[in-house]
Amino acid sequence: MSDAYDVVVIGGGPAGYPAAIRAAQNKLTVACIDEWKNRDGSYAFGGTCLNAGCIPSKALLESSELYVRAKEEFGTHGVKLGSIELDLAQMQKRRASIVKTMTGGIGALFKANGVVGISGHGRLLPGNQVLVKASDGSEKTLQAKDVILASGSAPIRLSTVPHDGELIVDSWDALEFDAVPRRLGVIGAGVIGLELGSVWRRLGSEVTVLEALPELLTFADQTIAKEAQRHFKKQGLDIKLGAKVARAVVKGSAVDVTYSDAQGEHTLQVDKLVAAVGRRPFTQDLLAEGTGVALDPRGFIQVDEHCRTGAAHVWAVGDVVRGPMLAHKGKEEGVMVADLIAGHYGDLNYKVIPSVIYTAPEIAWVGQTEEQVKASGRPYKVGVFPFAASGRARAMEAGQGMAKVIAAKDDDEVLGVHVIGPLAGELIAEAVLAMEYSASTEDIQRTIHAHPTLSEAIHEAALAADKKAIDAINR
Ligand code: FAD
Ligand code: NAD
Repeated sequence: MSDAYDVVVIGGGPAGYPAAIRAAQNKLTVACIDEWKNRDGSYAFGGTCLNAGCIPSKALLESSELYVRAKEEFGTHGVKLGSIELDLAQMQKRRASIVKTMTGGIGALFKANGVVGISGHGRLLPGNQVLVKASDGSEKTLQAKDVILASGSAPIRLSTVPHDGELIVDSWDALEFDAVPRRLGVIGAGVIGLELGSVWRRLGSEVTVLEALPELLTFADQTIAKEAQRHFKKQGLDIKLGAKVARAVVKGSAVDVTYSDAQGEHTLQVDKLVAAVGRRPFTQDLLAEGTGVALDPRGFIQVDEHCRTGAAHVWAVGDVVRGPMLAHKGKEEGVMVADLIAGHYGDLNYKVIPSVIYTAPEIAWVGQTEEQVKASGRPYKVGVFPFAASGRARAMEAGQGMAKVIAAKDDDEVLGVHVIGPLAGELIAEAVLAMEYSASTEDIQRTIHAHPTLSEAIHEAALAADKKAIDAINR
């Protein structure tokens, strides 16, 4: 291994590994260092997303949803099964195997692109040097023309809710339970709380989600949030809003959780407690003295709109910098930086980053919520189409939820699209593309959508914004 590279990337998660691959595609010499260690002690690229986040959670969401559908829905289709049993060990084996395949795939991508992958810890030194403590114990200093910091994030720990990995756990632990907890407590009705709460509720846990804020999904469009709340309630997720957790104490094999709401203080007893109260930027032992890289008051690495830090030729991308903590946001930042380093064009439209919550129904959106547009004072129009009126959704036994398009009254520009319903996360891609090209509702209205598809819901919602929907009554 030569000690000099054009680019050294610290962190091989969804922000770091795409940066490394694009830099290599740009004919630069690249090393990517990652210290992620799985529970069995093995090193793996892919960061939080592939090892303990996006991928394992989606594997369990899919399996648990199939379990519920087999129990509750197949009969409606005329499909009769014998007794349906949960084989959690097999479900977890499948989850682990998907993770292993996906993380192993990064090694293959590195090899094909000529990226040198190094398992171990990286620390930025002044002068664009990186001290590597490799997994085999060896130490080496790499010289880089450019360094990309992509060290990611870690779960926020509440000091009064002491994590023990057994009874009081984080999202990673909760993805690897080997038995279904009878009573599961979740602190936080954010994306993690709702996705993990859904998994274990579907598999049989009594799930109580304690959320400090008085409303659910405050960052989403409130029409969609209210619809989601209705569905979660029907599914048996007990979401207590305005319930701020003060502390949790292990009592034998259970956990006593103390929270307060408008009525006063309460104690809830659960068998496992998941803390899902947000994530913080991770920069532990990343920066030596004198690198010139600054952190903001919340601990994020300070960067400009093109992810340049205060130090020349040092960049930072992904969860460790400002903006939503989403894998696709980090990926596009990594790619942008690798292109800029190579002297190519690179930019990122932060206004059109899609969000997806993989519950059932799925929730997805891009752009502004109706509340944000209203607050901006810009006159707007709204079109809504319910999936109950979609033939494809009906055929899928998924006629719940809606698509909602918000557009400017003056020039018809699409300002936001919000979907709650089947495969909302897939449907939103059309809206992202439309908004990336500053489309109007008329552009979507005049675009042919195949029939019968779920995508017709976006088409009809765009038509409804001008009271021209065909398959729903215009209001
Ligand atoms: P990370 O993925 O955290 O990767 C950083 C890597 O850098 C890690 O491997 C870390 O070990 C390594 N590292 C850190 N410091 C050093 C160092 N000094 N030397 C060497 N290596 C170092 N996002 C989505 O968009 N969609 C989802 O569905 C989704 N689901 C999620 C579900 C869960 C349960 C969780 C927890 C998160 C989920 N996220 C999801 C968020 C997503 O995982 C993060 O936004 C994403 O992983 C951030 O990528 P990153 O590369 O910035 O950081
Ligand atoms: P979050 O910030 O989305 O939600 C945390 C919630 O915990 C908040 O609603 C907060 O009010 C609540 N909370 C905090 N302290 C509390 C207390 N003491 N008592 C009760 N409630 C309390 O964070 P998260 O759900 O942990 O997710 C972390 C990050 O991971 C997010 O940025 C998210 O974007 C990302 N993620 C994304 C996906 C996805 O894209 N599908 C899935 C999972 C995670």
